[in-house]
Amino acid sequence: MSIKSNIARIKAELDPQGCILVAVTKMHPVSELEQLYETGHRIFGENRVQELVPKYEALPKDIRWHLIGHLQSNKVKYIAHFIDTIHSIDSFKLLEEVNKQAQKHNRVISCFLQMYIAKEETKFGLDEAEALEILKSASTESLQNVKICGLMGMATNTDNVQQVRTEFKNLRTFFDSIKSIKTKNIELTYLSMGMSSDYKIALEEGSNVVRIGSAIFG
Ligand SMILES: *Cc1c(COP(=O)(O)O)cnc(C)c1O
Repeated sequence: MSIKSNIARIKAELDPQGCILVAVTKMHPVSELEQLYETGHRIFGENRVQELVPKYEALPKDIRWHLIGHLQSNKVKYIAHFIDTIHSIDSFKLLEEVNKQAQKHNRVISCFLQMYIAKEETKFGLDEAEALEILKSASTESLQNVKICGLMGMATNTDNVQQVRTEFKNLRTFFDSIKSIKTKNIELTYLSMGMSSDYKIALEEGSNVVRIGSAIFG
């Protein structure tokens, strides 16, 4: 299967549900990203700053880049001039740094809070109390160069479909419970959950942004 036919098949599943596709391009060479670009798709996701920056530089500038992997505060400065959305905000300190760097470029960067929903030590993310603290804090309201517009979560990497479904369901419930929080820089529109192995379950559980790599590139 080609990139073109894979993306057409996946978009046919997502479009009727109004779900946004982030095509995850990590570990694929620029030549394959060019093939993806030629299909007309414009939302690309990478998980490491070191890999993202050279790809940004090599490719057309109308691509909207999403950073989906863990982000260290000291690396924000390398992406602040171009990044569209960061899915992996897992501390107030990181949010503050994104705001500071975005301000230098007179931009507003879309941010998703990454929630810890899996039963895996290796994954990052906030618990519900930590997320609420960020959403309700007066210091968050003063950050004019970020917009908190969603939540992201990664389910446990397991064949246990019921467990994955429960993790997504819990995140959806939390998302629904905080949706009414609206300030100058908070409007919770997006729920980013689901990757190649579990996006169909995520869609059933209310995801409206999926991050898909291997099902596109093979
Ligand atoms: C790699 C990655 C994906 C995509 O994974 P696939 O299994 O290739 O679809 C999604 N989200 C994050 C955070 C990733 O690092």
